[in-house]
Amino acid sequence: MSPKAPITQDVMTIPRKLPEGKVNLVGLTRDQLREALIEHGTPEKQAKMRTGQIWQWIYQWGVRDFAEMTNLAKAYRAQLAERFVIEIPEVVTRQVSEDGTRKYLCRIAGGHEVEVVYIPEEDRGTLCISSQVGCTLTCSFCHTGTQKLVRNLTAAEIVGQVMMARDDLEEWPTPGAPKDETRLLSNIVLMGMGEPLYNFENVRDAMKIAMDPEGISLSRRRITLSTSGVVPEIARTAEEIGCLLAISFHATTDETRDVLVPINKRWNIEELLEALASYPKASNSERITFEYVMLDGVNDSDEDAHRLIDHIKRYNIPAKINLIPFNEWPGAPYKRSSNNRIRAFANIIYQAGYASPIRKTRGEDIMAACGQLKSATERARKSRKQIAAEAGLQS
Ligand code: SAH
Ligand code: SF4
Repeated sequence: MSPKAPITQDVMTIPRKLPEGKVNLVGLTRDQLREALIEHGTPEKQAKMRTGQIWQWIYQWGVRDFAEMTNLAKAYRAQLAERFVIEIPEVVTRQVSEDGTRKYLCRIAGGHEVEVVYIPEEDRGTLCISSQVGCTLTCSFCHTGTQKLVRNLTAAEIVGQVMMARDDLEEWPTPGAPKDETRLLSNIVLMGMGEPLYNFENVRDAMKIAMDPEGISLSRRRITLSTSGVVPEIARTAEEIGCLLAISFHATTDETRDVLVPINKRWNIEELLEALASYPKASNSERITFEYVMLDGVNDSDEDAHRLIDHIKRYNIPAKINLIPFNEWPGAPYKRSSNNRIRAFANIIYQAGYASPIRKTRGEDIMAACGQLKSATERARKSRKQIAAEAGLQS
């Protein structure tokens, strides 16, 4: 990996005062929005209609100012502005890679930061969003897993990342304009920082908002949730979200998976496969994506490829195997498998009748690739510590 300077780096500091006592409407489910409106003086009889109108302004048109909600009476708009805000995470920095990948660093309440990555491709545009600040799990190959700081994101902060990207891509439609079918932001993957199934309710509510046909309106088939294997929450994901599922599989024996993905010590490969086998039917979706990071000499042998296929066949799981060349980060304990090794591994899987795409590494020059996300403040803290250590000082 050659660290190159990003093409552009804008630093935005948008001063923002958090208005005391006001309620943020972003991230509320329709029912919660209706309740909030009633609680703050909207007559019950009107509440359903007002909920629909305000919902459309926020999620269909991207409006943040009550004054622009022109189908509401002026006095009512003023009343709303006194009690509510429409607020999303603030963009702190925005970097654009040589390949068009965009990485945003967003600040959320409490001064925490999360990273969001936009990846443009020929036929789609994928937004990789975060569900937590850091991650409580400690997968040994993952940069996020080394971050100490952890907090769950709220539903507002999760769907807010999508709204922030639509702002940046200037993709909110204008009233009366024809519907644009070729969207810049057409897919969402929950593959940023955090374990989404350890923040289930907030992730669910945020994704429900993103799918709502009177708003952002993304199909559930264009949303992929990636989990390291929180087995008890997998059936619930099928029932309550119904999106596509990706699983961080990464190893074919419990011995190796215990080290790479330590949650395996809690729910092992057999338990995980059992839960996965019921997912496609329960969620009425197609294949499950098995993510498999290629680590030199650790999990990349021909035997591993055969064992992987055996596991999937044994449970008859409709699957696609996504091979991810390991993205190295400073101090990482592993090396990326050679291209030849990755191709040989992919070929065994392909011969067994499964799709085995090798994931293209995107945005490497701006540390935006899979598993490289870690907040800048955390990095800065660590490097100061490192500097102190190198200088023989006590930190
Ligand atoms: N916590 C969830 C989602 C975030 S990680 C999960 O683990 O599934 C998104 C994907 O990136 C996972 O498959 C993860 O295993 C992979 N990943 C993490 N670090 C990586 C690295 N350094 N190189 C390549 N992929 C990595
Ligand atoms: Fe957490 Fe996923 Fe990284 Fe594991 S791979 S530490 S679960 S973000």
